[in-house]
Amino acid sequence: MTMPDHPSLSTEFEVVTVPCLDDNYAYLVKGPDGVALIDAPEAAPIIAALEARNWELGVVMITHHHHDHVGGLRALRARYGCPVMGPKAEADKIAAQGETLDMELEPGFEGGTGVGRCQVLAVPGHTLGHIAYYYPEGGALFTADSLMALGCGRLFEGSPAMMWQSLSSLAALPDDTLVYSGHEYTQSNARFACSIDPDNSALQQRAAEIADLRKNNLPTVPATLGLEKATNPFLRAGDTELKKTLGLEGVDDADVFAHIRAAKDRF
Ligand code: ZN
Ligand code: FE
Repeated sequence: MTMPDHPSLSTEFEVVTVPCLDDNYAYLVKGPDGVALIDAPEAAPIIAALEARNWELGVVMITHHHHDHVGGLRALRARYGCPVMGPKAEADKIAAQGETLDMELEPGFEGGTGVGRCQVLAVPGHTLGHIAYYYPEGGALFTADSLMALGCGRLFEGSPAMMWQSLSSLAALPDDTLVYSGHEYTQSNARFACSIDPDNSALQQRAAEIADLRKNNLPTVPATLGLEKATNPFLRAGDTELKKTLGLEGVDDADVFAHIRAAKDRF
């Protein structure tokens, strides 16, 4: 795998992966404007990661309303007093858990400067208001439970067509973008991916690399978007070869995606 030619390699932009709960990831993003946290599954490991670096938390950015992404908000707010941003469309559901958004974000919103410039992207499907955070200059994409390493989030609220649209819009970003997803589900995702796309040699190789990482209890995130496009069956629903393997030649991409998602639900 070649390293991306992005300013993310400089000290101006740094991402710290913080394992939380059983299999969640939160991310600290340090840029020219300060330190942002993407999702707040629980406070303690996030506080420890900040303390270890002597970083002050500047802002929290939430991707969607599920408790395993917002459960640490209260303790973080009490300690750092920092504002919390999140999807306007899910503000009510976040409020129902006793939290408030200081800033309600809508897709298309953009904030930050230089490598810290961040865009809010709509990625509905897992939930209806799910958003992703994209740093074009930083070359980083925080997808939580939309696009995941070798997978995608379960469709709790949206339709397959909606998720396919979300994934397709992410797939249009540059191939060297690093994708940071919200859970360590990659090894079980790899088993499913290999079962439906057995002739994909890039996938076989990635599955072996994932097994090695997990043997050493290391995160499988991030991965480049280019690697996801080559190996993630949910991004490959439009691929002629995969359609042939699945006996779905000539079927619409979105319907192939729906078939793959349903197969994963039963796997
Ligand atoms: Zn979720
Ligand atoms: Fe989640």
